[in-house]
Amino acid sequence: MAKCSICGKDYEGYGNNAKPVNNGQCCDECNFRVVIPERMKRTFGMPRERRKKN
Ligand SMILES: [Zn+2]
Repeated sequence: MAKCSICGKDYEGYGNNAKPVNNGQCCDECNFRVVIPERMKRTFGMPRERRKKN
């Protein structure tokens, strides 16, 4: 078992890279709810306001 670096809960399995939220590992739930949206934000800027590049 490992501990999620975001929510602090123990999880089973390999976990997910929590970057760019932090440098640890996180559970699947935090990956979907926190890490992926944060990555999207950093990749695309503010998703709702700046969706189009041109
Ligand atoms: Zn978590």
